[in-house]
Amino acid sequence: MPTQDPSPSALRIIPRDQHPISRRAISPNALRVLYRLHESGYRACLVGGAVRDLLIGLAPKDFDVATDATPEQVKQLFRNCRLIGRRFRLAHVVFGREIIEVATFRANVDDGSGDRQVVDGGMVLRDNVYGTIEDDAVRRDFTANALYYDISDFSVRDYVGGFEDVSNRVLRLIGDPEARYREDPVRMLRAVRLSAKLGFDIEPGTAAPLPELAPLLAEAAPARLFEECLKMFLAGHAVASFEGLDRHGLLPALFPETAAALAANRSGALRRMLVEGLRSTDQRVARDEPVSPAFLFAVLLWPAYCRTLIGLQAQGLHAPEAERRAADRVTLHQLERVALPRRFSLPMQEIWLMQGRFSQRQRKRVTRTLSHPRFRAAFDFLVLRRAASPAHEEDIAFWQEAQQDPDAAIASHPADVAAAEEGMAPRRRRRRRRRSHAAGE
Ligand code: ATP
Ligand code: MG
Repeated sequence: MPTQDPSPSALRIIPRDQHPISRRAISPNALRVLYRLHESGYRACLVGGAVRDLLIGLAPKDFDVATDATPEQVKQLFRNCRLIGRRFRLAHVVFGREIIEVATFRANVDDGSGDRQVVDGGMVLRDNVYGTIEDDAVRRDFTANALYYDISDFSVRDYVGGFEDVSNRVLRLIGDPEARYREDPVRMLRAVRLSAKLGFDIEPGTAAPLPELAPLLAEAAPARLFEECLKMFLAGHAVASFEGLDRHGLLPALFPETAAALAANRSGALRRMLVEGLRSTDQRVARDEPVSPAFLFAVLLWPAYCRTLIGLQAQGLHAPEAERRAADRVTLHQLERVALPRRFSLPMQEIWLMQGRFSQRQRKRVTRTLSHPRFRAAFDFLVLRRAASPAHEEDIAFWQEAQQDPDAAIASHPADVAAAEEGMAPRRRRRRRRRSHAAGE
């Protein structure tokens, strides 16, 4: 028998005339799946983020369905269905580009100890036990995510008090918060991310354990943390997510070297630059413009890069070598936490290394820099650095002009403009007639 850690509260049924969810706001394909299941004698509910979002008037990203039909039974009902996952078997019903995920009600057989019971064949037991809709509700993370929209009568079914929490815009873990975080530390990031996305408060009991349990994130799979980072920072609420991570003490667990660099940077220049980068990312998302993980991580890890670079230069390494080593070192260290794939880490490093070229104004170098495949991203990055130091204005003006007319730019901007730099680096004697780009931020 599955054991449940949080004891489910009484079922509350909110009839159609007492909630705002209209079928017009539900994807027609999701409705098709719900109706087909229902007509075939199964229970069929919309569940999770979609119900939550519909209740507060947001357009759901995707529509998940929960049912008492097994994945095999679901497959028999839909020609366009494939079963995925071995440990956690799910049905995907495919309609062109839209996929409706159909999951069978599951029970949580984990005792909250954090031990993942593995049985023969490497199957994780707790993921494979089917259960009742009530079991399914209490194994979810937040009460707001555990609401079911039942297609049989269009009611919302609430086993955990989620309806009231959504009305009050509160994010509350189901069950004992500490046990639920220990069971899956990524829930700490989900708390911050969903609070940022929805504008919900994190309920005090749900927020309290965060700073102390933050180190548990080191046990989470780096690939999963990468996915979670994309959801936090590339979905239009990056600034709020960053501030939430910071406020709840999660930053050092996710980006240890960036957190250390921000703490050491008394002028606040590094933080200004980082927040500016996230703000512009949010604006791009809002305007439906493309955003890249490489640029995002260049922003998030820039403080770590600057700090490492300054350390290496203090040891006597010259700029190009120090820059390369700093980029490699920061990337390597960060990979222990977040699995940033190489197709993103390489362009991220190029964006950093290009910053050193922006002070080189010899004609040949200017031509080379302009034709570099990463020029556009690196130049956008330089523009962001203005938030950290006005010293970059000169370079920005030069490269702005150089994109139109390199010769005119070279003629009108003297090559050795040593703008005053501010920031965390002690002033150094310059060995060459070029500025180190790291000192400013
Ligand atoms: P988003 O709008 O970002 O998609 P979401 O709540 O739908 O938010 P998903 O990752 O799509 O998030 O998860 C779907 C549902 O699965 C959640 O609403 C929640 O009920 C459940 N869930 C997801 N992650 C967890 C977790 N770590 N622990 C328990 N339940 C979870
Ligand atoms: Mg979702």
